[in-house]
This record gives sequence, C-alpha cells and structure tokens, in this order.
Amino acid sequence: MTIFALSSGAGRAGVAVIRISGPASLSALEQLTGSGVFRERQARLCTLIDPRTGIHLDQALVLYFRGPRSFTGEDVAELHVHGGRAVINAVLDALESITNLRPAEPGEFTRRAFLNGKLDLTAIEGLADLVAAETEAQRRQAARVAEGGLRHLYEQWRSAIVRTQALMETAIDFSEDDVPDDLETRVDGAIDELVQAITSHLSGADRGERLRDGFHVVILGRPNVGKSSLLNWLARRDAAIVSDQAGTTRDVVEVHLDLDGYPVIVADTAGLRRSADRVEREGVDRARRRAADADLKIVVLDSTDQSGEAELWEHLDPATIAVVNKIDQVQPAPSHMRIAETVLPVSVRTGAGMDALMDALTSRVRTALDQGAELVPIRMRHRSKLHECLDHLHRAKSAPTAETRAEDLRLAARALGAIVGTVDVEDILDVIFADFCIGK
Ligand code: GDP
Repeated sequence: MTIFALSSGAGRAGVAVIRISGPASLSALEQLTGSGVFRERQARLCTLIDPRTGIHLDQALVLYFRGPRSFTGEDVAELHVHGGRAVINAVLDALESITNLRPAEPGEFTRRAFLNGKLDLTAIEGLADLVAAETEAQRRQAARVAEGGLRHLYEQWRSAIVRTQALMETAIDFSEDDVPDDLETRVDGAIDELVQAITSHLSGADRGERLRDGFHVVILGRPNVGKSSLLNWLARRDAAIVSDQAGTTRDVVEVHLDLDGYPVIVADTAGLRRSADRVEREGVDRARRRAADADLKIVVLDSTDQSGEAELWEHLDPATIAVVNKIDQVQPAPSHMRIAETVLPVSVRTGAGMDALMDALTSRVRTALDQGAELVPIRMRHRSKLHECLDHLHRAKSAPTAETRAEDLRLAARALGAIVGTVDVEDILDVIFADFCIGK
C-alpha cells in the first residue's frame, strides 16, 4: 500500500511538504499533475489538479525519488505546496481519492525505512531526538546518533565479540593439540578490552539521557526571599507570580531555559515554611519531593533576615548553590554572605551579582551534560542492553567450559544486536515508534 501524509509542521507557513511513499507514488504524481515525466531527484514545478474533478489545487514543487534511493527505500514523492491549511487539506483529500493510497500512520515512513534497512534503531531514535531538539547541545547529540554513530560503535563491539566467539568455537571443534596454546589468554584479553570499553561508554549514559530530558534545577527558600523574582529574571518573562504577600507560590512553576546550548528546567517551589494552610502544605511537600530529585538546588536567602543562616547550613551540599538576595537593602554586607565561597550575594532587583550566579549555574550544567566528542548512550533501552551485554561478558570470563563460554559470548553479541535492531526487534519497535507523529 502507498501511504501519504503532511510531513511538515502544523500552523501557517510559506511551504508545506506532503510526502508519498510506496509503489503507487509515481502513478499518484501522474494523476495529480496530468503529466508523466518525472526525473529522479529533480525538482519540477507542476500544477496540481484534483483527478476527480480536474479542479486546479495549487502550484507545487514536485520531487520524485526512485526506491531504493529514498528515505523509506520505496518510491517516494514529495509535494512542496503552499502552506495554507485549505491548500494542504485539498491536496490530501485529492490523494485519498487515488486508488491504492491511504493516509500514513504515525511514524510509518520511518518504520518503512527501518524495515527496508535504510536506518537502524539507534538512527531512528537519533532522528526522533533531532526533530525534538530544542538546544544546540541536544541537536549535536541527536545528529551524531542519527548519522549512525552509535550503530557504528555497537557493531564494532559486536563483531569483536563474534570474532572471540569464533575463537572459542575452534577450541570446541578441534582437539587440544590443534588449538593454539595462547587461545585462552587471547580470548580473556579480548573480553577484558570489551568490558573496559563498554563500561567507560556506559559512564556517559547519565549525561546522554539527561541532555535529552534537561538538567533539573529547583529554587528553594523561605517565602518572600525572592524565589519567584529569580525565576522570572532567569526566564526574562513573567512565568511566576511575584507578590509581596508571603506564600503566593503554592505550586511548582517551571521554566525551560537554553543555557549556553544546554536544556535547563528551573522550578520555583512553594516556600519551605511550616504552614497550617492545607493547599500550601501540599505545595511545600511537593517542593521537598522535587528538591530530592533535582540535579541542582538553588537555595535563596534574604540578606535582610539573618535567621535563614541555619537553613543554609542544612542545604549546603555539592548539589547546591546558595544565593543571598536583596543585597541592595543592606549596608554593609551581612555576615552570612561571607560564610562560604559557594554563597553568592545578589540582588535580583538591581542585577548585582547576577552574572556570577549565571556563571556558576552554567558551569554546573556544562559539567553535568557536556560530553565533548564522545558518543554516549541516549536511551534507557541502550543502557539496559549494554548492562546485559556486560553481564554476559563477565559470565563468559568465568565460564567453566569452552561451550558455555561460547554461549555467553553469543548472548553478549545478541544484546548489542538488539540495540541496533538486528535481533529481537518486534517487542521494541512499538515502543520506539510511540514517540513519532504522523508524517515522519
Ligand atoms: P518568593 O516568595 O520567594 O517567591 O519571593 P518573591 O519573588 O515573590 O519576592 C518577594 C518580594 O521581594 C517581592 O516584593 C520582590 O519584589 C522583592 N524582591 C525580590 N528580589 C529583591 C531584591 O533583590 N531586592 C529587593 N529590595 N527586593 C526584592
């Protein structure tokens, strides 16, 4: 069956791209344009007509890709039409009237690309991330994976395991005299090398997954110290209600920031204060839970209120930046501003000290997420299969017989194969494609 869908985004735009894939692509083009000459990979300006009525639909730029040299590996056509809703609807409606054509399911183009061997599973995941990427660092990571970086790495390791497995098989198939003396040592050495490489790769998993999800920062402090003001300052927009009345931020308010290319999610929480108010208490509980999960806490204190000092000590750990706010109101600087180097004196109102705060924040984020040129696992799925592979490698190392050793190696290779999608595909396909929408 040939499928079609709008592949560009919703909303009004200059141009919209409608994609068609399958054996009837070329015939659909002929019916839509009343013309039969489409050269492969060459753009052509055509008048689209409704094949049922002959009504003129739009002027479109038409591209035709003959399979397998296309995104899906099938015959593919692209119609670059004008981006108006009515134009798109009219063209989609005309396509639906053509025999053997039907609207695509979510992710169906990419699924076909996978089934035709154009993309492996990691490339598909990279592609999904690329489409979803909001910051530069996310885009870089996604692009490397979409281009097959992870596939290349995992296939390298997989063939190294298969080679080692083949060595073991010789020990099984041939008599002891025919097997080289150093075979065991060579196999052990190869396994050790793989274990080391995979372990080091896994140590970046946290950074890879966090870069996708964002670095979570939570702002903590008593009511009225300036938490919402700080969040607003960070967001440079009115994301939280700023008010003089204590306890107005009852719920958790979040803003998403792009900090030097890294995705950061900052949450302002209800003031940490014992409260009789049920709604506010719930907010405080939520703040505590949120703080426990955060990658970084910013504890805000009020320089006009020295009583916050004890609270500061309670929170001061490596995952905390402490901020003493409202320094515009005190002369000279209060003592608790100087208790530790990690305490930053600021005034959200005047902007004093805010650059230093931004520097501290950015440097924490960069340390947590930066991966340089290294490729890291980007999905929980990768992480768990890599652990599975390591388990089998460890088992192979201590296996009692050559047969069990070879079997453990086979299972280790299989775990890597499952990441790129050469084995055990069925059960993971639906999970991966659940992230996709129609037209991809
Ligand atoms: P929250 O309850 O911790 O979220 O505190 P808010 O952000 O609502 O701020 C409480 C009050 O302190 C508001 O009136 C703010 O305008 C004021 N405020 C916040 N930052 C500063 C500052 O740096 N200097 C001064 N003087 N006032 C501030």
